Amino acid sequence: MKIYGALEAGGTKMVCATGLADGTILEQTSIPTTTPDDTVEKIADFFSDKGIVSLGIATFGPVDVKKGSPTYGCILNTPKLAWQNYNLLSALKKRISVPMEIDTDVNGSCLGELTFGCAKGLDSVIYITIGTGVGVGIAINGKLMHGMLHPEAGHILLNKHPDDPYPGKCPFHPNCMEGLCAGPAIEERYGKPAFELSDRQDVWELEAYYIAQAIVDFVCTLSPRKVILGGGVMHQEQLFPLIRKKTKELLNGYIETAELADMENYIVPASLHDDQGIMGAVQLAKWAENGAD
Ligand SMILES: [Zn+2]
Repeated sequence: MKIYGALEAGGTKMVCATGLADGTILEQTSIPTTTPDDTVEKIADFFSDKGIVSLGIATFGPVDVKKGSPTYGCILNTPKLAWQNYNLLSALKKRISVPMEIDTDVNGSCLGELTFGCAKGLDSVIYITIGTGVGVGIAINGKLMHGMLHPEAGHILLNKHPDDPYPGKCPFHPNCMEGLCAGPAIEERYGKPAFELSDRQDVWELEAYYIAQAIVDFVCTLSPRKVILGGGVMHQEQLFPLIRKKTKELLNGYIETAELADMENYIVPASLHDDQGIMGAVQLAKWAENGAD
């Protein structure tokens, strides 16, 4: 049986795992993210005796995912200064000699759901994570979307709610999705973290107002067959009916599809118990083994 290596690289921890082709995770461990060289050394130690055939990497970004680019596999302009311009992929390749495939963490989660989770069998889906930041993974025709970089759809601009005086948390944009919707924005707006605000209806109505606007923009531009919502903030399950209702309201009947007629199954929570990222990395490893582009 082939064993695949999977790495979910985050700003605070590195999740390393081994898995099978069907997505079964065999072994999983977490390594704190410290300096790049020290962290990569520990990752290499973990995989050294596992007999992996290939490695899939789903990483925090921004990251250069363009094959053939001189900085392919490089972490780009991150606020984590020690990692800025660090080539994660080539550092790993120096220590582990198996084929590798790298993508963003949200594209990894999207791929996990597409291959093993609630989007199995669909060709085009989006995965939105709303936690300490907002990220959007996009799969179109079974492939993860890249462009000049990779989508940064957590920073799409939204209409401010007329009764929301909060100036936004993003240092770049006063009214982007991440700056208005992510966990830190909720905490700063109300003076309490999201999980302590569960019973505040107004908090979630406003949150749904913003998330639904973003979903409507993605529905109109990308035409996904399913919209999956994950991340810490989305553990507030009371959000789902509010988001579905608001999305329907904003679409206002303009697009009519079987999917949109079944909102309960169209806008859904992540289905892989927070393993969607690492399972997506297993799938990236399968692609690496097959030399996919
Ligand atoms: Zn922004």
